[in-house]
Amino acid sequence: MAFELMACAPSDVIVTLGRAIDQAKGSDRLAPVTVVVPTNVSGVMARRSLGRGPGILGVDMITLNRLAELLAGPGLAHADRQPVSTPLLELTVRRVLDEAPGSYAAVAHHPATVVALRELHQELRLAGDEGAERLAQSGRGREAVRVSRAVTRILQRRWYDEADLLAGATERLRSEPVAGLERLVLHLPAPFDALSQAFVEQLAAASPVAVVVAFTGDDSADHEQHRVLDQLQIPRPAPSAGVRPATPARIVSTTDADDEVRIAVRTIVEAARGELTGTPVPFERIAVFWPGQRPYARLVEHHLAADGIAWNGRGGTELTERIAARLLLDLLDVDRRGLQRRPLFELLADVPARGPDGRNRPTAEWERVSRRAGVSRDEDWIPRLSALTGHERWGPPATSLLEFIAELRTTLGHPQATRPWSEWVEWCTTQLDTWLGTGAIAHLSDAEYRAWEALMSALERLKSLDSVSDPVTRSEFRTVLENELDDVGVRDGRIGTGVAIGTLASAGGMVIDVAIVLGAAEGLLPPGPRADPLLSSVDRERAGLASHDERARRLHHEFIATISSAHTVVTLPRGDLRATTTNQPTRWLAHVEHDRIDEIDSSFVGIQQIDFAPGERERRLRDRLRRTAGSGPLTHLDAQVVDDAATRRGLTLVGARADLDLSEFDGDLSAVDVPILSGATGAVPADARLVSPTQIQTWASCPHAYFVRYLLGVNAIDEPDSQISINALDRGLVQHDVLDALHRDVLSGVLPQPTDTGWTDEHRHALERHFDEMCTEAERTGRTGRPATWASERARMHRDLLGWFRHDSDIIRANGVTILASEHRFPDRDADVPMQIVLDLSDRRQLPIHGSIDRLDRWADGRLIVTDHKTGKADTFKKLTETDPTLAGSAFQLPAYAAAALAFVGAADDPASTRIRAEYSMFDRGRYARLGIDFDDEVWSIVRSELSDVVDGIESGWFPQVPEAPGFRVYTPCVYCEPDELGTTDAFERWTAKRNDSRIARWFGDTDDDSENTDD
Ligand code: SF4
Repeated sequence: MAFELMACAPSDVIVTLGRAIDQAKGSDRLAPVTVVVPTNVSGVMARRSLGRGPGILGVDMITLNRLAELLAGPGLAHADRQPVSTPLLELTVRRVLDEAPGSYAAVAHHPATVVALRELHQELRLAGDEGAERLAQSGRGREAVRVSRAVTRILQRRWYDEADLLAGATERLRSEPVAGLERLVLHLPAPFDALSQAFVEQLAAASPVAVVVAFTGDDSADHEQHRVLDQLQIPRPAPSAGVRPATPARIVSTTDADDEVRIAVRTIVEAARGELTGTPVPFERIAVFWPGQRPYARLVEHHLAADGIAWNGRGGTELTERIAARLLLDLLDVDRRGLQRRPLFELLADVPARGPDGRNRPTAEWERVSRRAGVSRDEDWIPRLSALTGHERWGPPATSLLEFIAELRTTLGHPQATRPWSEWVEWCTTQLDTWLGTGAIAHLSDAEYRAWEALMSALERLKSLDSVSDPVTRSEFRTVLENELDDVGVRDGRIGTGVAIGTLASAGGMVIDVAIVLGAAEGLLPPGPRADPLLSSVDRERAGLASHDERARRLHHEFIATISSAHTVVTLPRGDLRATTTNQPTRWLAHVEHDRIDEIDSSFVGIQQIDFAPGERERRLRDRLRRTAGSGPLTHLDAQVVDDAATRRGLTLVGARADLDLSEFDGDLSAVDVPILSGATGAVPADARLVSPTQIQTWASCPHAYFVRYLLGVNAIDEPDSQISINALDRGLVQHDVLDALHRDVLSGVLPQPTDTGWTDEHRHALERHFDEMCTEAERTGRTGRPATWASERARMHRDLLGWFRHDSDIIRANGVTILASEHRFPDRDADVPMQIVLDLSDRRQLPIHGSIDRLDRWADGRLIVTDHKTGKADTFKKLTETDPTLAGSAFQLPAYAAAALAFVGAADDPASTRIRAEYSMFDRGRYARLGIDFDDEVWSIVRSELSDVVDGIESGWFPQVPEAPGFRVYTPCVYCEPDELGTTDAFERWTAKRNDSRIARWFGDTDDDSENTDD
């Protein structure tokens, strides 16, 4: 065994490696040399770096494990053994625990126990028999060794692991000379486990091996390098005199991890522009390192992508977040709590799902129809979608969705059904082909393609589990697949293309000119100790297993070596917004030479200081902030002088909204053509746009709601999944439908008209029958919410209807009522020539309207009585009088229905000839009150004037937001301006300031009532 140490400083690693190779080749420049490198990335970088010099020929760069695999793999394969996988190990550990749990009995079934034992088994295997023997001297160690040996016994006949490869390779070297390994260089080795050490010693048995080791000159940071020398029995070199301490180019302290990454990106751009080192540094010679994946990996990936900087390494996007893996994992448990609507549509929306015909599934249309049908739970699909299959608009999507649900249920099978692992794997590949299309793989991005390959490899590994496990359920298969994918780290980008990114632990051997080390704060660097749940630190030491301190010391070496060998910017976050803690600089900064730590007060200050912005986003922000710093905050007065269009428009908007006048940004559409609703008297076009009294009322209460709902056609979405009980609208619809069915029985002659004594028992039976039918229909169409709340709500509605029945009987008895019409729609679209219904306005204009009258009666005194049923409270309508028939221009239903009723009886041309009254008829919440007005010329004149006012407002294009005053609310009646339902405080303040704009004060200006209310 002969090792020759070639010690060097971290900055001289490549030169020293070149010398080691030269020395190994001797006079034969073509002689093959094998260089054992710490990682594949460092191998590629070293080869490229050496290639830039005089060139290298016949040099293999290979990791120690790969070399062992090349030597021992063929023999193991010949013996019909396959590589072991993580799931296979975990299943075997579980089996051993099932058969003999020993001291793990209390926690044997916990997944964390299985994972911990599997990890320990892998370490113990590499520690060799001697390590296991030493560990078995303690009680806890003995149990762990027992499980590990049992796992080995089960697997050793058909499987092999890393330990088998190392042992096999060592054995082969011992038994036969292997050509090509005569000239060997160990490049930057880390301390070896027992089997690796034996393998390396055997490599050196035949011919001398050069060992390149970089020393930082800091004993504490070089601790592990000294340990390697001890393992290889190489004398430690004398400390070199005059080794300069590592000196980072800059140490920056900033607010948080996010801002650290922004600084990293700026540093990369400065380096590439030659501003850091005097010459431009190519991206491939720049690296960003961090202590742990979270939170840096995702932040670095995001910021580099946002600024268009190419990178390679392991970013923050996990394999399980890639499209194919995501699809499989979601599909495998889409019916975790039964086939519910929400998870299914989350899955369908997440992937471009295709059907067996290869065409995209109509996901959006299916989502709408399922919401319309009120589908929420597993049992809703068939009855509720079936109810819509005959519908003209919703029938086709309801039918195709039903077919899809049936097909999906067949595909998924029963949740408890078991299959062999290989069958589940086949199931998965079939689903990927079906859902993504067989050609999908050709359209995947590089990153997605690599993830696809990793997924396929993982599935392939799962196939082999049939030999050690019984068939499993879909859920069990999914758990193992997810664990397997969680364990796979997939690199993105090509090594040597773009900035290298990764953990500081992976920095060994990388050849770079500029490095950014993130997270240099206590708790992150070094990371907090990770306790072994199974062994004490004494046990671990006894078995020769790596300790937490060793891991920290390796990181320490990489930290100092990186600073020594590259122009390095070190950053640290002062705070962690996720943990609300304050960080201290890492203790390792005490080992490097530095004058000061640059403190950046905030991201805001950092952006102001940059000379060259890495991207458009930062450039714009910097320019705006510099301007702000010079002259105070930008205001709308700067709108004309800033050069950026988006900022200019933003400033204009902010200024306009802050102004006292209404603007185009808050409802002034007076400069835009909006639909005209009215026409000249007697000349309203037959195809004129019709409005309902409800629409008119909507504008009167909030013009913006009218604009969004009726001009833009935007409706708030009902989510059946979140509906706990029947909503007010559906409750009212059911009640209306029941009354309509009763009235239609009377109008069609199925039941007699009510008598002088009111409604009869016969009518009541019919009412109750219709109530049952309507409730069943509401349940079938998913409008009744959760079953528990529906039961009590239904009983309440039933009581309410019977209350109405009694009170209506009193009216009938007192007035002698004949029912003329029920739910009379106007204009009558079934008529050959539908009669236009209009309301007169001032200025010889008319407004064509549409709507529906709940009930029209003729009383014994000859009056026509229009009834509009209301299930809410009566408070709003208590102020209705003949002198205020529209409640100050806010209620137009009764006049509209009265006009339609007059047209119905043929008295539209001469309304004065017919006495007519219109009433709101309340239910229980309104104490069954009837509140209305008798129409005469005076009333019609007031209606004309008030209605003209509103129509003028709509046609003039005024659509301001009129929010309700802030205060406690049980529910949000309108969500157009506050979809997050966070309240109206800001909107109300803005509105209070603007409502007196002279152009709209006619409709919205403060009134005495307002000031009284405000004072109150
Ligand atoms: S949320 Fe309020 S202000 Fe906005 S449209 Fe609706 S009612 Fe008007």
